[in-house]
Amino acid sequence: AGGPTANPWDALPIRDELRGQSPYGAPQLDVPVRLNTNENPYPLPDALVDRIAERVREAARDLNRYPDRDAVELRTELARYLTRTAGHRVEAANVWAANGSNEVLQQLLQTFGGPGRTAIGFEPSYSMHALIARGTGTGWISGPRNEDFTIDVDAACAVIAERRPDVVFITSPNNPTGTAVDAGTVVALYEAAQAAGPSMVVVDEAYGEFSHHPSLLPLIEGRPHLVLSRTMSKAFGAAGLRLGYLAAGPAVVDAVQLVRLPYHLSSVTQATALAALEHTDTLLGYVAQLKSERDRIVTELRGLGFDVTESDANFVQFGRFADSHAAWRQILDRGVLVRDNGVPGWLRVSAGTPAENDAFLDAVRGLKKEHD
Ligand code: PMP
Repeated sequence: AGGPTANPWDALPIRDELRGQSPYGAPQLDVPVRLNTNENPYPLPDALVDRIAERVREAARDLNRYPDRDAVELRTELARYLTRTAGHRVEAANVWAANGSNEVLQQLLQTFGGPGRTAIGFEPSYSMHALIARGTGTGWISGPRNEDFTIDVDAACAVIAERRPDVVFITSPNNPTGTAVDAGTVVALYEAAQAAGPSMVVVDEAYGEFSHHPSLLPLIEGRPHLVLSRTMSKAFGAAGLRLGYLAAGPAVVDAVQLVRLPYHLSSVTQATALAALEHTDTLLGYVAQLKSERDRIVTELRGLGFDVTESDANFVQFGRFADSHAAWRQILDRGVLVRDNGVPGWLRVSAGTPAENDAFLDAVRGLKKEHD
């Protein structure tokens, strides 16, 4: 897809930087076992479904009115959740919510990036960072990683000093590699970014709840240019809800008000998210199961002779393949959809239910690896 071949929009006067590009497109194929988009495999429990129905029913009566524009109740509950689980006390004033963390990231780039400005990410990483940069007219800088996919702190600080980006993305745990970043690395990159900028540092912790390590949230204390981004799509098993949020100093929350659309978060979304937050403990129970399944996938893949990147997320990067796309296709032919992120030699599998993971492990047994 994409490239210089004809696109349906070529005849339209679209912005130059969009010409020849292709949209984000993880395949949505109808396959028995879908382990390609890091979704939570567990449907919401019945008690929560009932609670959502109740809260949405209440909200429905008032749909003639615009929603709470500032989503105060929801931000209060999100702050309570972070305070309880992420090792640092935050208030509603520290928290902002939007339709998925993608929208949070877009609002951050609309506020702190934009035409004439740049953002940096350390690649391979979450491809939407570069795409949202492009969509907001922000220049994109691809920063380096080590061979083992960790961030090379000295190299990263050197690029920041040289290129002086306005926004620095640090994804921890990183997608698609699963690699976590330690607090020391964030602090070093933050300091480099302040010396060069001052610029904003965004820690994308979409998979934070799955990590073996504590959240990086406490680092926002005393660092007014540090933002933590989170989502209910993964740990809360609510990708369909579209609810992401950030935690930062209150000035950051105030600043994104300049770009957010009024009433961006519907009453239905707010009601549903509040219902899900009431069931946090049940949902975190699923997270615990997924973490142990993730660890099992790592162990079993290594037992089968694959190279596996250390994972702190709900997915695992494995390889190495001489032709990863051919391997992806072979696994698909066996009824299991994994992800080819375009990292040469590697594929990514999301942790599913134990039965789905068994199906995946059966599908990869006997697959041809590079060093076979
Ligand atoms: N950040 C990372 C690192 C992700 O992998 C994803 C989803 N794949 C997101 C953000 C966005 O998720 P959402 O918009 O569903 O919150």
